[in-house]
Amino acid sequence: MQTAMRLAATGKVDILRAGIWKPRTRPGSFEGIGTKGLPWLQQARKASGLPVAVEVATGKQVEDALHFDVDVLWIGARTTVNPFSVQEVADALRGVDVPVLIKNPINPDLELWIGAMERVQKAGIKDVGLIHRGFSSYGNTEYRNAPMWHLAIEMKRRYPELLMINDPSHICGRRDILQEVAQTAIDLDFDGLIVESHIDPDNAWSDAKQQITPEVLGEMISNIRWRTEDSASEEYHAALEKLRQQINNLDDELMQILGQRMKVAENIGKYKKDNNITILQTNRWNSILERAFAKGDKLGLSKEFVTKYFDAVHMESINHQNKIMNS
Ligand code: PEP
Ligand code: MN
Repeated sequence: MQTAMRLAATGKVDILRAGIWKPRTRPGSFEGIGTKGLPWLQQARKASGLPVAVEVATGKQVEDALHFDVDVLWIGARTTVNPFSVQEVADALRGVDVPVLIKNPINPDLELWIGAMERVQKAGIKDVGLIHRGFSSYGNTEYRNAPMWHLAIEMKRRYPELLMINDPSHICGRRDILQEVAQTAIDLDFDGLIVESHIDPDNAWSDAKQQITPEVLGEMISNIRWRTEDSASEEYHAALEKLRQQINNLDDELMQILGQRMKVAENIGKYKKDNNITILQTNRWNSILERAFAKGDKLGLSKEFVTKYFDAVHMESINHQNKIMNS
């Protein structure tokens, strides 16, 4: 109740994010208070004046949540991966009018995310939205769940009409980088944020490291620089148009050069074929990369980008050589 009231007092929150059932990776962690907490949510909703959202993973949970006036439902990342579970939730939603948000699956698989969305839409739910909570990866990284922004951007491109919410809490898994991830999401024109908050973050029973107090959450929202997707200024449009033309020209040149590069790779392939040499020579590949890193560094290109770019170019080259050598 205190968290709810203090969140409402910030004036920055539209909906209370309130878990009742919490799927946890390992047994023995706090798995949520369960159905008996639903009346508490009703109280929080009434006292704060804010609608409430709850994660559901089974048909029974959908029924219980709706019975206690929950306003928004969401499907968690661990459920989105499982079409059986998503279908069960979708079946329970038939004939109901409630907004449903669908978190991306734990693994970076757009088809699973889309599949869950389709199952819920097919059940007749009109108000479907998406939540980008990042993707699990093995080993310790900066993030708890790698954002892989390009996947969320691709979903926005394919389904521009759907609401897209970002979940910085589960992407970061820690407090210190919440603000920058939230800002990135807003800069990418996301429609909103879902953030975990607790009156005593360190003593929260789940995900303590990523919790922030309602007041810190309020500040975080205030610190966000909001931008618009468009502007009425003609000068801005004219300047942008010119720069975009430059980008188009440069992209055309790059594509032509890449096409030429592949032709050269094919020629190399012919020589290798005639002399019965393997496609890949690790030494040569290492020296290409080293040259590229040195050059990229001077041109202000990050090592990460140079690596990705050369990986892609190299794969395409290999495919071209492969065709020549096996024809
Ligand atoms: C949650 O929202 O607390 C949760 C369990 O997140 P996710 O489904 O993204 O792991
Ligand atoms: Mn959580």
